[in-house]
Amino acid sequence: SAMPLVSVNPTTEQEIERHPLHTGREVEHRLDRAASAFEVNRSRSFGERAARLERAADLLEDNAPALGALMTEEMGKPLTQAQAEAEKCAWVCRYYAEHGADFLADRAVETAARKSYVAHEPLGPILAVMPWNFPFWQAFRFGAPTLMAGNVVLLKHAPNVTGCAEAIADLLREAGFADHELQVLRVDEETVGTVLDDQRVRGATLTGSVPAGAAVARQAAAQIKPTVLELGGSDPFIVCADADLEKAASVGCTARMQNNGQSCIAAKRFIVERAVLDDFQERLVENVEALTVGPPTDRETDVGPMARADLRDTVHDQVERAIGAGAVAVAGGHTLERDGFFYAPTVLADVDPGTVAFDEEIFGPVASVIAADDAEHAVALANDTRFGLGGSIFTEDLEKGERMARSLEVGCVFVNEMTKSDPRVPFGGIKDSGYGRELSHHGIRAFVNAKTVWVE
Ligand code: NDP
Repeated sequence: SAMPLVSVNPTTEQEIERHPLHTGREVEHRLDRAASAFEVNRSRSFGERAARLERAADLLEDNAPALGALMTEEMGKPLTQAQAEAEKCAWVCRYYAEHGADFLADRAVETAARKSYVAHEPLGPILAVMPWNFPFWQAFRFGAPTLMAGNVVLLKHAPNVTGCAEAIADLLREAGFADHELQVLRVDEETVGTVLDDQRVRGATLTGSVPAGAAVARQAAAQIKPTVLELGGSDPFIVCADADLEKAASVGCTARMQNNGQSCIAAKRFIVERAVLDDFQERLVENVEALTVGPPTDRETDVGPMARADLRDTVHDQVERAIGAGAVAVAGGHTLERDGFFYAPTVLADVDPGTVAFDEEIFGPVASVIAADDAEHAVALANDTRFGLGGSIFTEDLEKGERMARSLEVGCVFVNEMTKSDPRVPFGGIKDSGYGRELSHHGIRAFVNAKTVWVE
């Protein structure tokens, strides 16, 4: 019945492809195959699963240029960043191939029993609803540990990156996950609901906006299914009076503008002690104005187009409302007169709490600069948000930096570094940014049954 999924090249505005939605019969077929694929994967040894993940890592590395080109074509991220994304996916595959068996090994527990321990068993097919901003990384960040644990994946990707979704399924098949252990579902929101209700599906994860996460979690809860949510953020980037301003401005620029400004863990609110505000802001603007904006296929390009026209329009509307509320655009502040969904890298000065650029997530290349009286005030401002994903603090006093880090209401915090994901440390948020953790041993235990076995 419904409209096909359409991918549009955000640089040329030309349609790439129309992918028809799966029919109800096809969805049923895929659910059925997921259930039988689960029986296959759960009975494999850790060693067999690890060998497949290693093979997937090899394929990701060998094909990084082509996979990168596909990401760039569908959602516009600079090609260099897209290739790096494919390589990072290889890293997460190898990480779980190497450590997964340890993370899920039986854990002996001393009790009065002859023998007692915790076993970690897979749950079944897990639905993954994923966004377009890191079309490979988001899928592998979830998929690698999930397959290693013995579960299988139903991937409902964002419509504009359907080509990436199919490429991921193909790659895993080639790596030896041959029995439909990761299948793509080309479905609309209504069918996502039907899939969540299906008893063969045993859990769900969503990365995306707060309303999307709430909708999926509500429906999963009605069927008593576990969920992990990785939603938006409005991450603080605190610059203390004693910070290395040159480093803070350069790292801050990257942290805000990489991936064309479309990252949940991008630095969004630059909270700067008044004593260094003008100095830092000038340096930030210098860095932002030095960025090369252009076709993402050019190797020199730092910032390409946004992924969709409506996302660009939303960002521009937010910028206009911010200016209406007293902010000043000291760089950018407008769309670009050229083909493609480009938005000028922007710096908003004089942003106050209670206004749009402070309270809402701006999912595009727009930095907001906010004045703080002192370090304590900076922390209070940082926490004055419904989000709680990541945060950064720049200071030359590492003890103070760590103290401030401990008082931020976030899932991860970095002192003198930008917020980033790394397979070795947990990733996720608190408050409206979501719950549950991905990556590290936490991520691989998200969808397992920690089963107590007691032998008297
Ligand atoms: P969405 O959150 O709407 O989309 C993300 C994924 O969720 C897509 O696969 C989408 O599919 C699906 N989805 C959305 N609503 C539902 C629903 N009710 N039931 C089931 N699945 C659903 O993001 P947008 O692309 O529209 O971006 C809007 C905003 O979301 C951004 O401006 C940003 O603030 C935030 N966002 C955050 C991301 C992050 O990394 N945390 C990534 C992307 C966006 P479909 O399109 O088919 O509905």
